[in-house]
Amino acid sequence: MNSILIDIIEKAMSSGMISSVMVPSRGPEDSFPWTLVSNISALQRAEPLPPVMSVQGAKALASFTQSLPEGKLLAVMRPCEVRSTIELSKLEQIDLDRILLLTMDCPGAVPLKEYVENGMMEPDISSPETLRPLCRQCIEFTSAGDLCLSVHGGLHSVVSLTARGEELLDSLGMKAESNTSEWKEWANGLRLEREKIKTESTESLKKAYSGLQGLVEAFSGCISCRSCRTVCPICYCRLCFIDMKDRRSPASAHLEHSYNAGAARLISNTLLFHIGRMAHMSLSCVSCGMCEDACPSDIPIGRLVSMVSDNTTELFDYSAGRNPEDPLPLNTFCLEELHEYED
Ligand code: SF4
Ligand code: SF4
Ligand code: SF4
Repeated sequence: MNSILIDIIEKAMSSGMISSVMVPSRGPEDSFPWTLVSNISALQRAEPLPPVMSVQGAKALASFTQSLPEGKLLAVMRPCEVRSTIELSKLEQIDLDRILLLTMDCPGAVPLKEYVENGMMEPDISSPETLRPLCRQCIEFTSAGDLCLSVHGGLHSVVSLTARGEELLDSLGMKAESNTSEWKEWANGLRLEREKIKTESTESLKKAYSGLQGLVEAFSGCISCRSCRTVCPICYCRLCFIDMKDRRSPASAHLEHSYNAGAARLISNTLLFHIGRMAHMSLSCVSCGMCEDACPSDIPIGRLVSMVSDNTTELFDYSAGRNPEDPLPLNTFCLEELHEYED
């Protein structure tokens, strides 16, 4: 693990500033489960940036932190996991009062299937082709949360991004890096490359799947396993509207549809599920790619939701997870907005 990160964690734990750390650790069979570490010696197995993402960090955090009883927790996560944590806090699924968020320049992750198929070998993540599609086009690969550990652009130091981050470093007698120009230059350069990849990917998705017929085609191979929903950090409802009993159409409706069209597809609500999920997700999707990584039918589900999300967030001038103070557009009533969509 990075020595600056160890230094921060050790000092913060021994001074009592934080009582535990949530970080991925190396588990059996080269797996990387999330772990809650309360003893410095257990940090030896920590792997803050494993080659794969098996569980999204925000999901792991939300599983136990709705109200932390005591002490402060440091969550060491990738930028997309930090951003979904911030979204979940706005959705009242995580209480950030006792949680500090530390991220790092993220190199991306490889597809889980390929990692498993290749015998869990250490993959070469330096080549963009090996990364998951949404990592290849990720433009938010750094600077999220309270503190960011930068390892690129000649900078190997910690940058504080909020007053809470600054306060932690101060109390540990550590200084946040102030000369960040080379690091920012590196990030801007990579962002430009990624924006190009993203534009090309969006263009080809639009071409392949435009309109309602395009959506039907995109999801024609969907096996309704709902894995995309299960792994998504933002899909937090305990009961999905699509699984409610009264959402199921009666046999007579299927038969009527079949008589009218000659044949009717079963299971019938596949498209409704995806359109509903897109509508629910689109303002808070952080383009983490978990849904796409989990899809057994290789549907570009993450890129599709992310593309829709880009449009809706632009409409509301919102960026998912970037600023904890920005109100969620769906929770914010504005008398004067979106008049262009009236009538
Ligand atoms: S989408 Fe990929 S590259 Fe971007 S922060 Fe997440 S894991 Fe890192
Ligand atoms: S919809 Fe997919 S890409 Fe978006 S937050 Fe959920 S899992 Fe991540
Ligand atoms: S994971 Fe893939 S196959 Fe399963 S419901 Fe989602 S899109 Fe369909």
